[in-house]
Amino acid sequence: MTSTAAQTAAQEGPSTIAGKLAYRFGDGAADGDASMRNLLGGKGAGLHEMSRLGVPVPPGFTLTTDVCTSFYANERRYPDGFEEQIRESLSWVEQVAGATFGDAKNPLLLSVRSGARVSMPGMMDTVLNLGLNDTTVEGLATRSGDPRFAYDSYRRFVAMYSDVVLGVKRADDLSADPFEALLEAKKESRGVELDTELDAGALKELVDEYKAEVTRRLGTDFPDDPWHQLVTAIGAVFESWETPRAVIYRKMNGYAHEWGTACNVQSMVFGNLGDDCATGVCFTRDPKTGAPGIFGEYLINAQGEDVVAGVRTPIPIAKAARAEGDPPSMEESQGETYQNLLDACTRLEQHFTDMQDIEFTVQQGKLWILQTRTGKRTGPAMVKIASDLVDEKMIDQHEAILRQDAEQISELLHPVFDDSTARNVIAKGLAASPGAAVGQVVFSADEATAAVERGQKVILVRVETSPEDIAGMVAAQGILTARGGMTSHAAVVARGWGKCCVSGCSAIVIDYQKGEFTATAADGSVVTVKRGDTVSIDGSTGDVMVGVVPTVEPVLPVEFERLMSWADEARTLNVRTNADTPEDAAKARAFGAEGIGLTRTEHMFFGEDRILAVRQMILSGTEAGRREALAKVLPIQRGDFEGIFRAMDGYPVTIRLLDPPLHEFLPHEPAEQKDVAAALGVSLEDVRRRIESLAEFNPMLGHRGVRLAITYPEIYEVQARAILEAAINVMSEGGTVIPEIMVPLVAMSSELEEVRERIVTVAEAVFAEKKARVDYTIGTMIELPRACVTADVIAEHADFFSFGTNDLTQTTFGLSRDDAGRFLPTYLEQRVLQKDPFVELDREGVGALVKIGIEKGRSTRPDLKIGICGEHGGNPASVEFCHDAGFNYVSCSPYRVLIARLAAAQAALRSTGG
Ligand code: PEP
Ligand code: MG
Repeated sequence: MTSTAAQTAAQEGPSTIAGKLAYRFGDGAADGDASMRNLLGGKGAGLHEMSRLGVPVPPGFTLTTDVCTSFYANERRYPDGFEEQIRESLSWVEQVAGATFGDAKNPLLLSVRSGARVSMPGMMDTVLNLGLNDTTVEGLATRSGDPRFAYDSYRRFVAMYSDVVLGVKRADDLSADPFEALLEAKKESRGVELDTELDAGALKELVDEYKAEVTRRLGTDFPDDPWHQLVTAIGAVFESWETPRAVIYRKMNGYAHEWGTACNVQSMVFGNLGDDCATGVCFTRDPKTGAPGIFGEYLINAQGEDVVAGVRTPIPIAKAARAEGDPPSMEESQGETYQNLLDACTRLEQHFTDMQDIEFTVQQGKLWILQTRTGKRTGPAMVKIASDLVDEKMIDQHEAILRQDAEQISELLHPVFDDSTARNVIAKGLAASPGAAVGQVVFSADEATAAVERGQKVILVRVETSPEDIAGMVAAQGILTARGGMTSHAAVVARGWGKCCVSGCSAIVIDYQKGEFTATAADGSVVTVKRGDTVSIDGSTGDVMVGVVPTVEPVLPVEFERLMSWADEARTLNVRTNADTPEDAAKARAFGAEGIGLTRTEHMFFGEDRILAVRQMILSGTEAGRREALAKVLPIQRGDFEGIFRAMDGYPVTIRLLDPPLHEFLPHEPAEQKDVAAALGVSLEDVRRRIESLAEFNPMLGHRGVRLAITYPEIYEVQARAILEAAINVMSEGGTVIPEIMVPLVAMSSELEEVRERIVTVAEAVFAEKKARVDYTIGTMIELPRACVTADVIAEHADFFSFGTNDLTQTTFGLSRDDAGRFLPTYLEQRVLQKDPFVELDREGVGALVKIGIEKGRSTRPDLKIGICGEHGGNPASVEFCHDAGFNYVSCSPYRVLIARLAAAQAALRSTGG
């Protein structure tokens, strides 16, 4: 793997890329700036911008993403001029840093880090302390006056380089890292407990043992030449763009594989040179709640990866966040550095006008900022921070709306544990990422994915997580770690996904081999939890509980209401809901739905009190028999519609007449078939024969939708009657009713013309009987390509169009909705398709037909009301399409109404330039 590829990586050509390959930063200046994310990566662009701002940044240079993409396009070779540009940039860094790469007396050491245009925390690789060998280590020892530190850096470098560049790794999830194992053995042989208790001599021995392990595994020696180390490390960083975990992460987040990563080569600063040194990670606001104030942790006398990897549990930076019994916070123990850090945080936040995620190191009392980026945050924090930034006049209301990730809003709707239930808390960890998760305990990523494939819900329990656990973290309901702070890998990744996580739960002791963990309660009693046992974890409190704790709906924060009111002012699209019951309609109203865009009446047909009558209707074989059965259905449907009209008082309600093939309603169980036979007064055999005769080869393209009404007009007649009688009844109670009757699957104007006439006849009859009238409209779904291209004539008989983009996607692609799951994943994996067209509307094909439909429809009926009721109505990118295409409304499931409201506002702001 990496070893051979990294060797090839040392070679150049034959490609060339126009322009610079290496961009320098440091010493209060930079070649690049924050606007160059795509070329320099997020981390790179941040370093350049910080350097321009005068924030203290160790000098270095960024190799662009173009170098990475060229590397992949040219059989993993570097472009022409690559080496020369590195050498020139390196000598500039040497001058600024006042040290020389590979020098025996005063060696410059480098970090080589990945950094794509978007942050992918921990997904790619890094090599630190590069440039050390048996000679330079002595120089480092002399200059620092600390041989222990020099050899500790050296051993870390050998382990990291061997892992990242040479591919010397642990065998699997449950076994130890080979270098960690050697370290543990050394501590044992020296009779010490902590890494810090090993002296220079022991660390020197470890370096030799590490190298021997490399030679034993690979058959080649560990490379001593600093230049070779540098060029191969750069290759490995570029290669880490393609590691499985990075690929999964991109897929989950919808990031393009073509982007590539940049590579930052930067002079090292050390947080492990003694007790006046430290390293840490902080957010300028709380990424979990959004509360203002510095939020982060640090470790004294340590290197950066110690914080992120969660190996040692770090100490809070701010005094306020320190719990009883914790060592002193940075605010207390290093007051001046703390002030400098606070200043840098304020400067960076003001400059980037958003919450920042900052990595820093303190070397002998001097603060260095290593990285800043826009911090990942939970849904609630996203909302609070945007709202607060408006109050602080850093951004305006429109910017606050545009900053929301509409999809992430659903996190605010995640259930929380029911407070009224007693909790059996066995341990308490850090409340790293909010939410309530319940599942069976598993101890490895592989176990997690396998269990989830079997349909189980799991909690992944690990001592700490690393990027290799990513697939298991995706699969799990929640993550529980024994070590690691609020900025550990588990915490950061989980928060980014809105997944529940409890980290640093030191009260539990995990035994991977036995497949269990134990927790020691405050009273000293010990609870053992085995693989497969159910636990509940609360990411908002850090509680770990045995068994299932029930959940309840959350309360939306006030800042959210405020943000949504700004969004409602900005948007022009109406947002309706798809709802089939009064309960769903009421829920959607609470989320701000402005009517119903689709009631699927067939869902009502399955109710226990009516399915027999429906079956009787389908199987009767004569019009008289059907009418008799429909007479039983009528009052029940009328009751359903009354409930929905009441819940949607004053708002339009679109009710779709029967759509699915009749066969779907028929009984498949012998007992049910017997009931129908008895109700119809025919034999079981007769019923079976009739069921068989109704079976279709291709029901989705068969006898369904308006076609049912052409052959059995009485079905729609009865449904229209139920709708209009219900409307008049609710009106007579004082309600305001706006019924819209919708005909599905129309392909030809003649179908709609005929059905419309019948509905109008029924309506007039109802009005005469009831001696009351109600305003109503008749429209059609547009879900077939033929309907789009003949929309001008169809519109002559329709008051509104509602695009059924589920069926329209199916019929445009010729791709069965029900069978696509078998091969669509492969299309997406191989990137034959970029997006699942059943999730995000395919603008190129389906979208083009929709636009034709709108244009033609409005050509004959300019006031034609246009909506969408396919699943796309709740997908932010599709909502934007609908806004741009001139829709009047989108309709989506109740839980997506908030997302659609926000997405509609964002679309409106984007189309007018914010
Ligand atoms: C559609 O086809 O988009 C639609 C809303 O109808 P259904 O999903 O019920 O077929
Ligand atoms: Mg449909």
